[in-house]
Amino acid sequence: MSRGQTAFETGKYKVTPLNLTDEDLKVMRLWKTVKAQCPWCFYTSDLWSFATFNYRKKKGKTVNMQKCECPDCGAGVMRRTLLKIYNMSMQEYGRWFWDSVFTGGSYDKVQWEQLKSRLRSGFSYSECEPFWQEYWLHKEMSLSGWNADADEDDDAYEDFAAQFEPEEDEPR
Ligand SMILES: [Zn+2]
Repeated sequence: MSRGQTAFETGKYKVTPLNLTDEDLKVMRLWKTVKAQCPWCFYTSDLWSFATFNYRKKKGKTVNMQKCECPDCGAGVMRRTLLKIYNMSMQEYGRWFWDSVFTGGSYDKVQWEQLKSRLRSGFSYSECEPFWQEYWLHKEMSLSGWNADADEDDDAYEDFAAQFEPEEDEPR
C-alpha cells in the first residue's frame, strides 16, 4: 500500500467517481433509473445522460438540478420538461409540441430529420396520427389569423406523410 492510498483511507480525501459529491452521486443513481426524452429530436435515454453541471469556486462541480442538455442535439431543456415529454401520450406531446412551434417560437429548435425518423422507427402510422392531428388543429387556428407565420411546417408534415405512404397500403 502506498502512502497515497493511506491518505484516502483515513478520509482525508474524498474519493468519488466522476468527481461527484456524495449528494450528486445520489442524484446520479436516481437519475439513471428515470427515463427522459428530448422534445426537439425525440432522443430517449435515462435522465442522467442529460445532466449538466455547475462549476463554482467554493462548491466545485455540482449537478444542475434544473437545466439539462440533450446529448444528441445539444438543446438546453429543463429537467421537468424532459420527464414530462417521456410520460406524455402522443396527443399530449403533439399539443405541447405544436403549441411550442406555432406560438412559442420554438421552430428553430426542432431537429426535423431526427424527430421524424424516431417517430417513424418507434411508432406506427396510426400511433403517430394524434401528433399530426394536433398539427392540423394548430394550423387551422393559425389560418384564422391567430398566427400567420407557420407555413413552413407544411413541408414537415408533407415529408412525414410521404414517408409513411407505403405503409398505408399494407394490410394491417
Ligand atoms: Zn435533442
